[in-house]
Amino acid sequence: MAVYQSQAVAFAQYATAQVAYHEQALALHELDGTGCCRFCGRAWPCDEARHSRRMVDHFSQWALIDEPAPTSGLVRTYLKGCRP
Ligand SMILES: [Zn+2]
Repeated sequence: MAVYQSQAVAFAQYATAQVAYHEQALALHELDGTGCCRFCGRAWPCDEARHSRRMVDHFSQWALIDEPAPTSGLVRTYLKGCRP
């Protein structure tokens, strides 16, 4: 049981790191004034932004902190566009 619990903590730490990493990627791949990604220049949301958004959604289930980063205003905009 103790081994199981420590694995759960380790996975929560991994999930937390994944969320932090992908929130940083989302902050880079933000919408510019022309409808393109500010970082890679492709139509926004670019592949990286979509992938990172999915990863944040996925790993937030287990992350130790699930509050969006202060810089993630674009994330909320993106989420609104995807919800029915
Ligand atoms: Zn991009």
